[in-house]
Amino acid sequence: MMVDYQSLAVRGVQALSPYQPGKPIAELARELGLNPDDIVKLASNENPLGPSEKALEAARDALGELCLYPDGNGFDLKQALAARFGVETSQITLGNGSNDLLEVIARCFADGDSEVVFSQYAFAVYPLVAQAIGARGVSVPARDWGHDLDAMASAITERTRLVFVANPNNPTGTVHGAEAVLAFLEKIPARVLVVLDEAYCEYLQGDGYADGVTLLSRFPNLIVCRTFSKAWGLAALRVGYSISSPAIADILNRVRQPFNVDTIALAAATAVLGDAAYLQRSCEVNAAGMAQLEAGFRALDLPFIPSAGNFIAVEVGDNAMEIYQSLLTQGVIVRPVGGYGMPRHLRVSIGLEHENAKLLQALAKALGRDSQGA
Ligand SMILES: *Cc1c(COP(=O)(O)O)cnc(C)c1O
Repeated sequence: MMVDYQSLAVRGVQALSPYQPGKPIAELARELGLNPDDIVKLASNENPLGPSEKALEAARDALGELCLYPDGNGFDLKQALAARFGVETSQITLGNGSNDLLEVIARCFADGDSEVVFSQYAFAVYPLVAQAIGARGVSVPARDWGHDLDAMASAITERTRLVFVANPNNPTGTVHGAEAVLAFLEKIPARVLVVLDEAYCEYLQGDGYADGVTLLSRFPNLIVCRTFSKAWGLAALRVGYSISSPAIADILNRVRQPFNVDTIALAAATAVLGDAAYLQRSCEVNAAGMAQLEAGFRALDLPFIPSAGNFIAVEVGDNAMEIYQSLLTQGVIVRPVGGYGMPRHLRVSIGLEHENAKLLQALAKALGRDSQGA
C-alpha cells in the first residue's frame, strides 16, 4: 500500500513553510560564475567586521576538545553572562542560537489549544514555532510598521499562553522605549508569558532604551532572549540565551537538548563578552553605515523605515523582486521581505563602508538612475 508520508506529519507541520534564509555567498557565486570575494552579502544581519580576535583565539584553543561532549550546563558562559547582567546563573538558559530558545519556549508553554500573539511584520520565527506546535498564531496589525503594543495587549484571551515582542523588530527595525514596554507589561496577565526578543539590543544606546533584564524583577512572566549572532559577530556558532525567572529557566532547561551549545561556541561566546572594544566597534560601524545608507536612500528618493537594528528596510516599489534580482546579478545580496507582507521593501543589512557604497551604486543602476549618494 502506498503511504503518503507527508500526510502523517502533525497538522501544524504539514502546513509549514520553512524559514527563508538569505542567499549564501557561495550559492550566488556558483549560480552566476562570480568570484565569491566580489560578492557583498547584506542579507542576514551578520556583523560585517568579521569575528572578534578574542573569540577566534578561544575557538582555536577549544579545538583540542572536539572528542568530548560539551559542558551541557555552559558553566563558564553562564557565569560570564550572570556577572555582566547582574542575574543568577539559574535564570539563564542557553540556546543553539536564540532561535532554538524561541522554539523551546513555545514547546514548553503552548500547545494545540493555545494562542500565541505576535505582531504583523514581526520576526518570521514566531508564527513558525506557533504553527509547528499546532497553536493558533494571532497576528496583530502593526502601527507605522511597528508593534501596536496596546492592540497586542487587547488581543490576549484566556487561551493566550505566549506573546512575542521583538524589540527592536526584524525586518522593520522599529523599537519601543522603556516607558512603552513597561506600560505594555503592566497590561499583561501574570499567567501569560511575554518573550522580549532583544536580538539587536547591543546596538541601542541612550536613555529611553528598554532593557528587558532590568524588568525581570517586576515581571516574573517575562523571558528576555538575546543572541551572539548580531553585534557579537558569532552567527555561525549558534549561541543565544534567555534570562527569566529561575522557575521558567528550569522548565526550559528540561526541554532543550542537553548539549545544544557546542564547545567551540561556548568558548568563543565567553571570550567575546570580554572584548568590549569589539562590541564598541560593531556599534560604531553600524551607526556610520546606517547614516551612509540613509543618506544614499534619500539621494535616490527611496523611503525607508528608520531602524534601531543593524539593517534597514527600504521601499523600492512594486518591482522589488526585479530590483532584488538586478542586485544579485551585480553581486549584491539583500533580503526580499514579500514573505513578511512587505512586497515593496527590501531589507538591507548594514555593511562596511565600501559594501554599503557598492549596494547604493548597484541600487541606483537597478532603478535606472545615475549613481549618486554612494
Ligand atoms: C537574528 C534574530 C534572532 C536570532 O538569531 P539566532 O542566530 O538564532 O540567535 C532572533 N530574533 C530576531 C528578531 C532576529 O532578528
